[in-house]
Amino acid sequence: MKSAFFLDRDGVINAEVDYLSDPEQAVLLPGVADALKMIHASGMLAVVVTNQSGIARGYYTEEDMHAVHRRLDELLAQSGAAVDAYYFCPHHPKYTGECDCRKPAPGMLKKAAAELHIDIASSAMAGDRMSDVGAGRTAGCAESYLLLTGYGPTTAATHDLTGITVKPDLASAVRDFLDRFQVK
Ligand SMILES: [Mg+2]
Ligand SMILES: [Zn+2]
Repeated sequence: MKSAFFLDRDGVINAEVDYLSDPEQAVLLPGVADALKMIHASGMLAVVVTNQSGIARGYYTEEDMHAVHRRLDELLAQSGAAVDAYYFCPHHPKYTGECDCRKPAPGMLKKAAAELHIDIASSAMAGDRMSDVGAGRTAGCAESYLLLTGYGPTTAATHDLTGITVKPDLASAVRDFLDRFQVK
C-alpha cells in the first residue's frame, strides 16, 4: 500500500479561474512542480481530486476538462513534475442529483484508494476550501490542509479555523507532512 497526497486542483495546482475550461487559461501556481517532486521523492502518490460542477451545469464538457488536464500535465512536465491520476466529480445536486463524490463527500478519495492501492490513514489532503478539508477528514486522512492559495484567503476569513492546519501553499503543506509524519 502507498500513501498519497490528495490534491484539489483549482487554486492549488493551477491559478483559480471560475469554471476553467480553456487549456490556454491553465497557469501553474508557483512552487507546485517542486511540491509534486517532493511528494514523489518521498514515495507518495500525487492524486488530484476535483469538483467539476461546470460539467453538470453545461458550461463545458468532460472532454474540455481532459484538455485542461493534458495542458497541466504538459506544464508540469516542463519542470520534470507530474501527477499520478486525476479524479473528478462532474455532478451538482441541483442538476444531476446527489452523488457520493462531490467534496466534501469522500467518494473520489475512496475510489482512488481502491484503484491505486492507497492507505488513506497515512495520506494527506490539501485544498483551498472547507469542502476539501472536509473530504480529507471524512475519508480518514492523517492530515487535511487548508492552503492560502486560490480561495484560501477567503475561506480563512469566513470560517472558524479551530483545529484546521493552515499552510500558505502546497509546498509548505508537503514539507510539513513529510516532517511530521516521517514519510520515508
Ligand atoms: Mg479549489
Ligand atoms: Zn459526484
